[in-house]
Amino acid sequence: MRVLILGPQGSGKGTQAKRIAAVRGIAHVATGDILRAAMAEGSEVGQRVRPIYDRGDLVPDDLMIDLIRERLEREDGFVLDGFPRTLPQAEALDTMLDAIGKPLDAVILLEVSDDVATRRLQARSDKEGRADDSPEAIRNRLRLYHELTEPVVERYGADGMLVAVGGEGFVEEVAAQIEDALIRIGVSSR
Ligand code: AMP
Repeated sequence: MRVLILGPQGSGKGTQAKRIAAVRGIAHVATGDILRAAMAEGSEVGQRVRPIYDRGDLVPDDLMIDLIRERLEREDGFVLDGFPRTLPQAEALDTMLDAIGKPLDAVILLEVSDDVATRRLQARSDKEGRADDSPEAIRNRLRLYHELTEPVVERYGADGMLVAVGGEGFVEEVAAQIEDALIRIGVSSR
């Protein structure tokens, strides 16, 4: 099973993506995690993305597309989290999945207001101290979501592939709604 999960930072996307992947024994492919691992390693890619990441800006499309292509070629089933964030990334994803014969089964959108997203990201900042959870970076990331990622949401909406789920409830409530939505569109629970 191949699922894409979309939603603003702070929508609980990572938590839900991990859960969907764990229940089905498929990979959780999160571009934010891939970049954090590259920075922790101090690789060339890591060094290049650090200042961009810390500001809450978006890493250039060509770099992200190369990183994700390599990963998706290796996985049969996956939950994709954090990619695509721009229309060129979405187009590249469609082309690469077509080329490797691994189309998406479902696209889930987790909806939360900017207020809830900001509160959650600030709480995470207090707990984990992520560099990109500073107040300026949070504002920047949500602005970029509206500007560049919402067109991606609209694109999958127009394809009729998108299922929207409210993301403001408790983790288990949201998880149950996601499972219902997946069953409704004919994607089994395993
Ligand atoms: P995340 O953990 O998904 O919130 O991602 C953290 C940061 O990694 C983002 O604010 C961007 O700087 C970078 N990033 C992750 N995924 C992408 C992507 N698909 N395109 C560009 N930048 C990304």
